[in-house]
Amino acid sequence: MRDLLHADPLATVRNLGILAHVDAGKTTVTERILYATGTTHKRGEVHDGTTVTDFDPQERDRGITIFAAAVSCTWDGHRINLIDTPGHVDFADEVERSLRVLDGAVAVFDAVAGVEPQSESVWRQADRHGVPRIAFVNKMDRAGAELDAAVASIRARLHPAPLAVQLPIGAEDTFTGVVDLIRMRALTWTDDGTTAHEGPVLDDLREEARRRRRTLEEAVAELHPGALEEFCDTGALSTRTLTSALRDLTRSGEGVVVLCGSAYRDRGVEPLLDAVLAYLPSPLDVPPVRGTRDDGTGEQDRPADPGAPLAALAFKVNATSTGRLTYLRLYSGTIERGDTVWDATARRTERIGRILRVRADRHAPLDRAVAGDIVAVAGLRSARAGSTLCAPCAPLVLEPPGVAEPVVSVA
Ligand code: GDP
Repeated sequence: MRDLLHADPLATVRNLGILAHVDAGKTTVTERILYATGTTHKRGEVHDGTTVTDFDPQERDRGITIFAAAVSCTWDGHRINLIDTPGHVDFADEVERSLRVLDGAVAVFDAVAGVEPQSESVWRQADRHGVPRIAFVNKMDRAGAELDAAVASIRARLHPAPLAVQLPIGAEDTFTGVVDLIRMRALTWTDDGTTAHEGPVLDDLREEARRRRRTLEEAVAELHPGALEEFCDTGALSTRTLTSALRDLTRSGEGVVVLCGSAYRDRGVEPLLDAVLAYLPSPLDVPPVRGTRDDGTGEQDRPADPGAPLAALAFKVNATSTGRLTYLRLYSGTIERGDTVWDATARRTERIGRILRVRADRHAPLDRAVAGDIVAVAGLRSARAGSTLCAPCAPLVLEPPGVAEPVVSVA
């Protein structure tokens, strides 16, 4: 944690999406993340309609996630902006736009079904947007759950090299935890999932854990030149090399780190959150955003720099009881309340009203927001999902104008 004090604050931000086939457990995983990060204190359950991200009544009725919402939470000194991606193909534009504003994603799979056709199509979309991913094989408590089969289906159907970093402890209704193959520690949860215990790997699993760690090291060495060198020199990989090689492979898309668990265990998502921080990129680690200058002089890249001219994409507009809320991904520059900005899509100026950090339990007002962040802004009149907001002196369009999207009403 000491390192974070000196690091660029942007390095501690993760703009994260959760991608999944309908029913794989995206909503439950999201709920458990909000619960584990202390954002919600009451556990939301899908079946009783109290989940936080699926707040639209139509969505609840249809049992699918329709409208993207972004919620911020904190884990181990990092801010995770959780962007909900609609899992339904009917909302292709929204899926595309939410993939655009993410820097990384967790792909959730069902441990019984493995890769399903819809998981494949969402995966391909994420490929097109170059979104680095880690995989979470959920529902390990179900009858018929099998990590190795799910891993094999990731290899066969999605094609990156799956890199399993955990070994499940127990199976189906006796699934009680995981061995972390990176740190060689056992994490177990009580039956109700509310208490976690970390300790040494027990004798009966030690040999299997060593074998799997070896398989992981070999797979990483095969893909990563730096790791290969160490592997050839020493016959093994240090934990440090293994972790940094896994980070590189995640970001290049050559490999996918695979974790497993059950969203039915409250604390079962904690290793997943650790993996999000360890392997997925911050806004500083992704390429600069590219836009088109609206004077016809071509394209321009904007760095994730708070001092650069503003470039932000509106990706969701909700009509709430307190007025319109526009969700923005800031790519470069800074916004402050009262700033005049240029809506390069509607070609008019706009004034920034209140800037809000949207949390599941409340909205926290901010004085300003900087490049890399995701916030909601009140007071914008013309911005629609897909609009670019930029500095009036440096206009830029991030997304070609399409069909104007309706403002979504939220109770
Ligand atoms: P989504 O459609 O991907 O958002 O999936 P949901 O979160 O709505 O989950 C679909 C169903 O699977 C619900 O009935 C959940 O209660 C159930 N479910 C979610 N996670 C788990 C899990 O870890 N184990 C088991 N057995 N069921 C789960």
